[in-house]
Amino acid sequence: MRKVVVIGGGISGLSAAHQLLVKGYDVTILEASPRIGGKIFTMEFAGMPIDTGPDAFLEREPEMKELCSALGLAGELVAPVSQSAKIWVDGALHTLPKSQFLGIPLDLEELASLDLISPEGIQTAQNDFTNEDTGRHEDETVGSLIRRRLGDEVMDKLVGPLLGGINAGDPDKISLRAGVPYLATATDLDFSLIRSIKEFVRSSDRDPKAPVFLTHPDGLSKIIDALGEELKGKIVLNENVHSVVQEKGKWIVQGRENLEANAVILSTPAYVSAGILRNTNNEVAKLLSSINYASMAFVLFAFPSGAVEPFDGSGFLVAKSEGLLMTACSWSSSKWGHLGKDQKTFIRVSAGRVDDDRVFNLDDGELVSKLLDELSLMVGLKAAPSESQVVRWPKSFPQYEVGHTRKVEEIQKRLQREIPGIYVAGAAFNGLGLSACIRDARINVQKVENYLEKNT
Ligand SMILES: Cc1cc2nc3c(=O)[nH]c(=O)nc-3n(C[C@H](O)[C@H](O)[C@H](O)COP(=O)(O)OP(=O)(O)OC[C@H]3O[C@@H](n4cnc5c(N)ncnc54)[C@H](O)[C@@H]3O)c2cc1C
Repeated sequence: MRKVVVIGGGISGLSAAHQLLVKGYDVTILEASPRIGGKIFTMEFAGMPIDTGPDAFLEREPEMKELCSALGLAGELVAPVSQSAKIWVDGALHTLPKSQFLGIPLDLEELASLDLISPEGIQTAQNDFTNEDTGRHEDETVGSLIRRRLGDEVMDKLVGPLLGGINAGDPDKISLRAGVPYLATATDLDFSLIRSIKEFVRSSDRDPKAPVFLTHPDGLSKIIDALGEELKGKIVLNENVHSVVQEKGKWIVQGRENLEANAVILSTPAYVSAGILRNTNNEVAKLLSSINYASMAFVLFAFPSGAVEPFDGSGFLVAKSEGLLMTACSWSSSKWGHLGKDQKTFIRVSAGRVDDDRVFNLDDGELVSKLLDELSLMVGLKAAPSESQVVRWPKSFPQYEVGHTRKVEEIQKRLQREIPGIYVAGAAFNGLGLSACIRDARINVQKVENYLEKNT
């Protein structure tokens, strides 16, 4: 029987292993920590299941929905009851324009009425309709496109905070095509960014009333638990793999024990995969370790019933220029119906981004206290929480900087040419959303199949 070892039990590794198992391969998953799920982790907090990593997935991408269907969970998924976010900029909370696409305003008259962008800023954005785009190039940053077409103000006060929130990144460094491919596609139809996106939205067959996100009311760990059941007996926990070496035409995966395999998928973070492959192929290891990661933390708050004024919306994003620790605030009990049923108020605050490690210089007590001060300033919240919990995610968000696509192609080329039978999958390569991770796992499973077909 053809043996495949998957290193890493996050969504990428688990979904790859699940597909391999369904296809009849002998598969083992080696996971360093005492639990599976990786970044997906639901904890019981103030009596409710609260996600401490991802808390939802994009509805428009099919892979997570397909996985939930295969696991019999699709009927249990829920959408947010409130999707209207706000933005904290210039020392005040502002409503986001209704007519926008990933933060890009599509109706400048509406934008002008919101008191968010100055008349000069609106005037600059108007030029998008008339000025030909001479500055386009294949691999540019999100920031360079938005600043060129709509001006610095729209970038700094609207698009930057929205897109920066996706990966704790800096949109002035993130590659448009690699980092936000959906936006890149939407901008290809006209030199005017606004006209192009409007055309894209008009021509896409997506139901405008469809929710943007879905989740499981028991938390996303419910999906991981169901996957774990399917993979029972195939998962080894507390197995910290340190290297993979070749011996007599087979791969030996080395941790506490050595495991022989015909093919190996590494679904560990890129810097971990780099360490595992260092002695096997130093060039691949160097490329993998050059993928930069951002660190951040979530702080969960529960407030007693009636202690906090209701919030009108799902939460808010914070512009970088404000200099605050907070990057976003999800008003979880307004956003999700299942959390709102409890009388308590649940709030999940994000802090830290790629060039801002201040949260890692604060202990938990200091972080909680500073974020409560910020909440007091922003929404006048004065009540003391009944519970709080800090969850730190060091080096957790891969940054798809300019040159990312070429780097990933180079990694794939070298793997295939120089160490065939070894594959890398996961958030570091072709999208970091949960569906993108499953998509990447599928691609790698297909490669494993092709390889084993020819070589065993
Ligand atoms: C805080 C946060 C919030 C997010 N929110 C969302 C969201 O709302 N929606 C969304 O779609 N995406 C979100 N994402 C992105 C998404 O969660 C991740 O990209 C995805 O979960 C990554 O999955 P993965 O399997 O590729 O990697 P991981 O989940 O990192 O899994 C890798 C696994 O490898 C294991 N491992 C590490 N080293 C070794 C070793 N030496 N040997 C064996 N095992 C090892 C780790 O313990 C881990 O279990 C978020 C990410 C973070 C960090």
